[in-house]
Parts: sequence; structure tokens; C-alpha cells
Amino acid sequence: MPGKILILDSVPTNRIVLKVKLSAAFYQVVQANTLKDAQLLIRRGLPDLILIGTAAAGDDDGLAACKALKKAAPSAGIPLLMMSDDSSRAFRKQALEAGADHVFAKPVDESALLARIRALLRLREGEEDVALPHRTSQALGFAEAQAGFDGPAQVLFATPDSRTALTWRNRLKPLVPYHMAHKPVSEALRGIGRLSSPDSFVIALDEKAPEDGLRLLAEIRARAATRHSGVLIILPPGCDRAEVDALDLGASDVMEDGFDAEEMALRLATIIKRKRFRDGLRQNLRDGLEAAVTDPLTGLYNRRYALPHLERLAEFSAHGNRNFAVMVADLDHFKAINDRYGHAAGDAVLVNVAHRLRDGLRPVDLLARIGGEEFLIVLPATSRAVASAKAAELCRLIGETPVTLKKKDLCIPVTVSIGVAMARDHLNAVDASGAALLEEADQALYRAKSTGRNQVLLTGPGNAGGSAAAARQ
Ligand code: GH3
Ligand code: MG
Ligand code: MG
Repeated sequence: MPGKILILDSVPTNRIVLKVKLSAAFYQVVQANTLKDAQLLIRRGLPDLILIGTAAAGDDDGLAACKALKKAAPSAGIPLLMMSDDSSRAFRKQALEAGADHVFAKPVDESALLARIRALLRLREGEEDVALPHRTSQALGFAEAQAGFDGPAQVLFATPDSRTALTWRNRLKPLVPYHMAHKPVSEALRGIGRLSSPDSFVIALDEKAPEDGLRLLAEIRARAATRHSGVLIILPPGCDRAEVDALDLGASDVMEDGFDAEEMALRLATIIKRKRFRDGLRQNLRDGLEAAVTDPLTGLYNRRYALPHLERLAEFSAHGNRNFAVMVADLDHFKAINDRYGHAAGDAVLVNVAHRLRDGLRPVDLLARIGGEEFLIVLPATSRAVASAKAAELCRLIGETPVTLKKKDLCIPVTVSIGVAMARDHLNAVDASGAALLEEADQALYRAKSTGRNQVLLTGPGNAGGSAAAARQ
């Protein structure tokens, strides 16, 4: 859990009091007297949260310090809380606009302060969780530019009565570009799946039954489909105690003084910006992982994915004593195709063959490009007879139709040889490893090549030398 907090306050006693409170809550505290000091400390090591107290000496005011820190990296992305003597909504809006996550009016309620800090640090921890592998995959050269999330953000109002939601929506409409919908609190999650989850919920707590809204919040955080959505809680007057509960249950933000269109727009903007940033990181991570296991030419899995997959299947099948097939398919005389038609045409042939093989297999079958013109095919839960027939069919599928390249006006005949090994026919059938089966399939392929090409050869009992199982097309 991150926990380094930077306090910027020009009054030493304020800093000391805060430091004592925060240290008691197990946070590491660093202190700055002026904005300049704070910036120096930030350059030395990023804090996880910044707390601006009384206007720092020499600075115009806390707002100016907030603006300066939020203007540029590295401090711009760090959550920032402000404390102020000014408790007006007008000032609060100015601070939110300057980039603060929240403003506490003095005297600051300690439990609310600590709850806010917990919530913001939890959010930051979530960002770090995805940012770290993201940075690693970036370093490995996998990550592309961050995914763009086009289209307006989706906001769902969950209110005790629909009139409130409609009023809020109408008041917000001129201020925000979001797509806004509303549902009663009790129905808010109905029909929401991973793809239809809103960027942010806005939950209005009912004065008489705030626990209904809090239960919805807990449910939103518990479900995979909505876990990453933002949640803005609107407290009814006199319900301050619910603020701490809401933050600890996972609210992204809480509005204390009831509805105000501008304030809600500012808070929603921060929630949605953060949510989309994290979505982008997660998407990049997924893209990076996918790129790491995909062959860029054919789009098939590569060796890095295929071999561990094969080992896992071998282990799994050994338990259930299930048979499965491992095939290695290699294009015949492919070098001659390159030599005759050029490397680009050779590439096109590889892509075409890959697609035809894919089309000839079941979704559960694995097809991977494990060498230049060599493909691994794994058929789980498959008998020897079915595997033999499937291999013969694939061989025919490739050999009977030449690859036509319309642009180059070429028609290129291509054939493939396939070696097949069956897990249960392996000498060591009980614990045949994936690597051993692949080696066997390779040997069968070698014999298919040396005895004529454009044919299938199965290894296994009764097929010594393999010729008995050769299925010439
Ligand atoms: P065999 O029937 O014995 O398999 O003969 P072959 O010519 O297919 O086998 P060999 O191993 O001699 O040559 C394989 C060729 O595949 C050589 C290499 O240039 C070509 N190759 C490997 N990867 C690619 C690729 O990504 N694109 C293209 N166009 N050619 C490739
Ligand atoms: Mg070849
Ligand atoms: Mg080869």
C-alpha cells in the first residue's frame, strides 16, 4: 500500500499536528514550507498524495500552489487534498477546477480526512498495479500508444426517485458531454455487463435509508463488470457520517452539500479521467501480452505461447488418461517458392496457408506458427482415427488449391507434409511430456518429407518406420 504523504503548509505547528495524526495512521510524512520546497521534495521522490494546508509563505495562496503542482508532471498525477478556512461552495469549485481532489473546511474532521486519504491511496495503488506491468511491457517494446477511448462517457444516476435524476441530468446537460441515464437504486445493476458498465455511477443516498445506496456501492465494487467504474456519492443534508462509510466501501468521491451542477461536473470529470486512464493502462497491458504471444505475419499464436500450452494440455490429459494429437505441418519446398516468386509472395503464401489451416480446425484446437514455414497443431480430446483423418483433410485442403495472388497475377501451388504423434500411443504414455510428443511428431514429419512429401505420417505402435500410416494425398 503506498503511503508517502507530502504536507505543504507554511505554519510549522500545523505541519506538526498533521504529521502526528498521519504518522499514527502509519503514513510516511514529508514536510514542505513553501511550494519551492515541495517541488524539490517531489523531484527527489514522488509522494503518493499531497496535502496543502495554510497558504505557504511567499506563495500567493493554496490555490496557486495547487495549480502549480497540477500543471505538469511529475506532480500532476498525484492526488491532492486542500484545507481551507473558506468553506464556501464557490471556493470549493475553484479548488476542484485547479485540480484538487477535495477541499476540507477547517476545522478538519479527522475521520473524514483519513477516509479520503485511504480512498485516494487505494485508487493510486490500483493505478500502480496496472502501470507497473504496463511499463515493463513498454520496456520490452510491446506496448503501443495508449488506447483511445472515443465516444462520450456513460454516467448512470441511481437515485431514490426519478424526478431527482431528471432534474440533475437537465442541469448537467449544458456542462458535460456525457451520455446520462438513470435508474432507481434498487434496479441500478440490472442488465449491466462488462461492456455496458457505465464510466461512472452517481448514487444519491436517501436521507431515510442511506444504507440502500451504500449497499449498491458495495455491490458495484464486488462485481467484475462494474468494479472499475467510478462512483460519486451524493450525501443528503445531515448525513455526514455516511461519508466515511462510502469512502471506505470504495466510493471514488463524495459530495457533501447536496447537488450543485458545476461541482458535480468538476468531480465527475476527475473520476472519468482517472477511470479512462486506468482503462487505457489495462488495455495496453492486454495488447502487450497479446503481442508477446502472437506471430505478427499470420496472427497465429507463436512458439512462446504454444509450447507451454502443449505442456499444460499434456499434464491435464495425463490425469484423465485422455488421448490428444500433436501435429507438425511444414510447407514443402518452400525455399523454392521464395526463390521463384519472391519473399513477399512467400509471405502471402504463409498467411493464406495459416488461414486455411485455421478454417479447417475446431475452435478448441491450437494452431501456432512455431518456425518459418512450420505450424504446430494440437487437437485436444481426439482419438487416433479422428486425428489421422483430420491431418489427411488438412493436407488435402492445402494441396488441392493453389494460392492465388491476384495483385501479382500469380497462382502458386503449395503442399504440406504433416507428422502426427498421439499422446496415448507414446512409449511413455502415462507421462508423455509435450516436448517429447513434439519431438515424435517432428520425427514423423521428417519421414513424411523423406518418403515423398505432401503426405501425413503418424507415429505409434504398429507403425514402425511410419510408412504404414502414411496417407499420401
Ligand atoms: P522442405 O520441403 O524440406 O521443408 O523444404 P523447404 O524449402 O520448405 O525447407 P527449408 O528449411 O530448406 O527452407 C525453408 C524456407 O522458408 C527458407 C526460408 O527462407 C523460408 N522462410 C522462413 N520464414 C519465412 C518467412 O517468414 N517468410 C518467407 N517468405 N519465407 C520464410
Ligand atoms: Mg519446408
Ligand atoms: Mg521447415
